[in-house]
Order: sequence, then C-alpha cells, then structure tokens
Amino acid sequence: MSAFKISPDLSSNAGYGHVEPMEEQAPRFRPASRPRRRAPEPQAEAPKGRALYPFSALVGQEAMKTALLLTTVDPTIGGVLIFGDRGTGKSTAIRALAALLPPMRAVAGCPYSCEPGRPADSCEHCRGLRQGKSLDASVEIPVPVVDLPLGATEDRVVGALDLEKALARGEKAFQPGLLAKAHRGYLYIDEVNLLEDHLVDVLLDVAASGENVVEREGLSIRHPARFVLIGSGNPEEGELRPQLLDRFGLSLDVVTPTDLETRIEVIRRRDAFDRDPHGFCTQWKSKDVALRRRIAAARRRLPLLAVSEDALRRATELCLALGTDGLRGELTLIRAARAMAAWQGAAAVDPEHVKAVGVMALQHRLRRNPLDEARAAVRVERAIEEVFGQDKTGQEKAGQEKAAP
Ligand SMILES: [Zn+2]
Repeated sequence: MSAFKISPDLSSNAGYGHVEPMEEQAPRFRPASRPRRRAPEPQAEAPKGRALYPFSALVGQEAMKTALLLTTVDPTIGGVLIFGDRGTGKSTAIRALAALLPPMRAVAGCPYSCEPGRPADSCEHCRGLRQGKSLDASVEIPVPVVDLPLGATEDRVVGALDLEKALARGEKAFQPGLLAKAHRGYLYIDEVNLLEDHLVDVLLDVAASGENVVEREGLSIRHPARFVLIGSGNPEEGELRPQLLDRFGLSLDVVTPTDLETRIEVIRRRDAFDRDPHGFCTQWKSKDVALRRRIAAARRRLPLLAVSEDALRRATELCLALGTDGLRGELTLIRAARAMAAWQGAAAVDPEHVKAVGVMALQHRLRRNPLDEARAAVRVERAIEEVFGQDKTGQEKAGQEKAAP
C-alpha cells in the first residue's frame, strides 16, 4: 500500500459523528483477542430498546456539564480532563452528551465516517470513490463515543493488519482501530493517568496532527482521526505527563455531592430511570430537545462572535499573573470564552465570559509553586480576583473612573 498525502484540512470538521454504543460500565481490561463486532461499519445504531440516561436529567456537576457542552459548541477547544472520585457520573454524562448531539452525515461505507462533500484527504476509501464513483451516498449516524480501555493493545487502538483477509486472500488490508472509530466524535479514557506511555505517545501524535499514521506489519496507512478527548482520573493515583496535560483544553474537579438534597435527587432520578428507562426518557425528552436546539444555535453564532479588546486584555493579564507557559493557555481561554458567549447567546465575547471559563481553561497549566501550596483552582480564582477585581466589566470600570474626583 502506498503512502498517502497528509491532509492538513480537517480543522473545520466540527461535525460530530457517531460512535459505537457505549457500555455503561466498560471493563477496565479487555482481552486483546476479544471477538470483533459483527457489523463492519461504525454506523450501527444503539441497540434498540436500550435507553441512555438523558443529559438534562443529570443532577449537579455543573462545571462538568458546562465544559462538556462547550466542547459541543467548539470541538477545537481541545477536550476535557475530569479529575475526581469514581462514581460521580462521568461516564454517564459523556454518553448522554453524545446522544444529545444531532446525528451526523457520513460517507456511506467509509470506515472513518468522513463528512460528505469534504472527505479527509488522507482517507483511502474516499480517495478511491473520488476517482471512480461519486461521494454522494451518505448515511446518518450517531456521534461516536469510543472507550479506550486501559488494557487495550496498540493494535486495537491504532489498527492493524486484517489477519482474516491476509490469511484467506493474501490481501494486505487494514483493520481500523479505536482511533478510526472516534473520528468526528469523542474518545473517552477512564483513568487516563494510568495509560501506558507508548499509548500516550500515540495519543499525543494523533491529537496534534488529527491523523493516525500506521507503519507496521508491511502496512503504511494514514487516516483521519480528529476527536474530542475526554479523560478522567484521580491525580493521587498517578501523575499525568505535562505534554498530555497540556493537550486538554479544559479541566475540572468532580466530587461526590455532600449536600443532602442533591444526593436524594440523584438517587431518586437514577432509581426512576432504572425502573422505567423509556418512561423516564420520555419525561425528559423536551428538555433534551431544548438543549439540542441551544447547541445548534450556539454553533451557528460562534463564527460571528468578536472578542472585545477588554476581554482579550483580561485574558492575557490573567495568564501573565499565573505565569502559564507558552500561549496555549491564552488561546484556549479565548476559545472557551467565545464558546461560552455563544452558549449564552451573547453579542460579543466580554470579560465576564473569560472569567467564567478561567479556572477550567487554566488550572491544569500551572507550574508547581513551592511557596504556594494552594490547589491550582484556588490559585486561578485568586488571580481572577486580582485581574477582574471588583469591577466586573470594562463599562463599570470606566464608570468608576469617571466618578472618581
Ligand atoms: Zn472517508
């Protein structure tokens, strides 16, 4: 198989795709020889009759819900890292989020679910179609959410030689892996801090380039793999490499709610869902539909939003005050603020939007300060207080200055 050209132009691939139905509780280790699913394409619908917990019925965990929703408005923010306890509904929230997204159209038969009309240059399947048949045939598929279990082999993650075809027909064909399935959707890694180093290296490469390159077993394959990375983990059980940390656009802490009423409500809803999933989903359907419309409206608004001078200045001041490395912090902060403004239906990106996303965009980018033992979130909050001060907006500030003698 020949080498393919690199496709640089997947950047505006904001569509979300489909993903294989997620298991509610993915086993942490799966045997490498786990039988492949029968369906050759990722187009398989979620099994009929299986309901997913509705996103709008999630109780509390506001930071997590907000961060996840912002990635639907602008997937280029760069993924979400969730620190915290087990059993706080992370996995449920991500699956619910994907189910909330409008289905996406994909080139029929493409193993990477390319977007019709603008297939990835690196997609061998669609290149073949371009030279021959038309690319018109498309299918509607749910946005993919793919689990990357810790025990996954490299073959399963990046793809490998299709042994069946190799043995039966002597063909050197490529069997796509999890990265291929996640294209245009979400890749979820529970306990990402325990991921083996060689898989972290693969992820870093793919996250940077939006492509998976496989050069092994006589294969030379390049295919599109652009997805929103969602990682979760407990930092006390293992540190994340700074390079990987830096790849996540947003991060947040989740904790088990300690408030009595919240806990009661969590249990009440979960119990109602478990007893009658379809009835429960019907009950929440209109709220989920409203959220879906709001996402669509925010996506349309996003490219129209300008960042005010004041917002840009505050964002930069905040990063300077925190001493974040490089400019990725500012860029992410501005992108997240823009997504927040779009989500809120604002006319422009103002300092209040920067303030709202400050902690989640910056807390994982701080260097350790031996003189300051405070949690990163607390340090960011203090810096926000300094930079934004009492005056919440530039207008108020101007007003105060005028009022001064
Ligand atoms: Zn394709």
